[in-house]
Amino acid sequence: TLTSKTAVVTGSTSGIGLAIARAFAKEGANVVINGLGDATEIEKTRAGIESEFGVGAVYSPADMTKPHEIEEMIRLGETRFGSVDILVNNAGIQFVSPVEDFPVEKWDQIIAINLSSAFHAIRAAVPGMKARGWGRIINTASAHSLVASPFKSAYVAAKHGIAGLTKTVALEVATHGITVNCISPGYVWTPLVERQIPDTMKARGLTKEQVINDVMLEAQPTKQFVTVDQVAALAVFLCSDAASQMSGSNLSMDGGWTAK
Ligand code: NAD
Repeated sequence: TLTSKTAVVTGSTSGIGLAIARAFAKEGANVVINGLGDATEIEKTRAGIESEFGVGAVYSPADMTKPHEIEEMIRLGETRFGSVDILVNNAGIQFVSPVEDFPVEKWDQIIAINLSSAFHAIRAAVPGMKARGWGRIINTASAHSLVASPFKSAYVAAKHGIAGLTKTVALEVATHGITVNCISPGYVWTPLVERQIPDTMKARGLTKEQVINDVMLEAQPTKQFVTVDQVAALAVFLCSDAASQMSGSNLSMDGGWTAK
């Protein structure tokens, strides 16, 4: 149980982040949700977490490209609930293009959201975790933190960076009761995956069915998508006492993809 703990989950208005925030709330944690989207929808999500699980839920509109706003997100958790004990760096975007056509501003945006935002959030949250002698930092990496696919240069670079940041911080905070791990899913059926289908169709000259079966599920030996709830269950486990000696790990949940 995570009662009396507070979790900040970036990019939790949708997909994997939302499932993780809800799973933590179900365990009794207060949650700071974050992400883009329609204000009415986000408020519905926030209020729904409070009423369904009887915990506190607050929304931070922090833009993960803005270091100052990321720091404010951590401070919001600390002032509203007294601490930030769990930090999940999950916000991420994708862009698919051959490297020579890759828009420079897309490269910068992906590095900012998928990699640098984790540094800024960790930087802001670690002093409080050290002071309390307990913390859990979980970064949503990807199978693309371990292997590459063509046309995803910024994403693969950022995710490999996340894996390195995870190991480095794990070493730095190891004696303070803080663990740092990353989760590396294969293809999870979320809006992020749905949105990249048209671009992959274009980049590879394929139909939608071919992208799903021959590109995405081709990579995954089980031939099935990972579910957001399966990723969330692993995040909950990483916050348990049973996982207190797991740190600096990169945990694959990819239907066997990176075994190949
Ligand atoms: P998603 O698009 O459903 O969710 C992404 C979240 O990030 C949303 O809440 C969105 O609002 C938020 N976000 C985007 N830009 C932001 C910004 N500038 N500031 C704040 N929030 C921002 O995608 P998802 O599939 O749930 O992805 C979540 C994470 O999981 C990402 O890091 C992604 O790279 C990773 N991942 C996804 C898959 C997959 O197959 N879906 C596989 C491996 C890793």
